[in-house]
Amino acid sequence: MPLYESAAVVLRSMKLGDTDRIITFFTLRYGKLKAVAKGATKPKSRFAGRVEPFVYCNMIAFGKEKADLLRLNSCDIIEPFGMVRNDFEKLKRAFVSAELVDNSQKERDTNTDGFELLLAMWRRLSRETDARKQDLLLRLFELKYMSTIGFRPFLKSCVDCGGDIIGPKAGFNAIKGGVVCHKCVTSDPAASMVFIGSVKLMGRSLEMPFEKLDRLKADPGLQGDIDKIVVGFVKYHVRRNMRSERFLAL
Ligand SMILES: [Zn+2]
Repeated sequence: MPLYESAAVVLRSMKLGDTDRIITFFTLRYGKLKAVAKGATKPKSRFAGRVEPFVYCNMIAFGKEKADLLRLNSCDIIEPFGMVRNDFEKLKRAFVSAELVDNSQKERDTNTDGFELLLAMWRRLSRETDARKQDLLLRLFELKYMSTIGFRPFLKSCVDCGGDIIGPKAGFNAIKGGVVCHKCVTSDPAASMVFIGSVKLMGRSLEMPFEKLDRLKADPGLQGDIDKIVVGFVKYHVRRNMRSERFLAL
């Protein structure tokens, strides 16, 4: 029976029967995989504390070639991300990031860039105490992650007329996935008005590694725009209701 061994993060952990758990992993080598951790809820289980959401581990599982559900053999922690689980503000944002990956990533479809990005996001989130900065990190993560699954927003010229983006304001059309110029924005019902600075900041974030995003500063106006743009963009293209988004309002 094939063995699956990979660095992985836990996206989700769900109870199965009295003592087992189904773990959704996002693995570096195989993409998203699900595995049963037998007896995981028993007090003396070898999986205790290892199959919690956001744990970064080395996992070994086995199962048939195309099985939907594997059996988890071991999960050795590399980084526990306890700082994220034990702080409600960080936890909420980590949930949104994990849910986006879970909802948009097909099983057994590798996404190395997405994997590295998720890890970078959780590492940065662990250290960030400012809630507003945590929000910006989350939105920029989502934006960058969407690019890794083929949805890179088009920010260079107008998606309606192809014209240049000039002036203090522009529009963003989540359905077409890009920016709309100041002339077209009034006749495009799907576009919402945003500051040009927000579009530029998003454009710069897409060109930078996640670790360097700290250099980008957003005042409340820009941050509000980025929130609106990214939430709309993700909602339209991932086409699922992000349940965890509701946590952010708590
Ligand atoms: Zn235009």
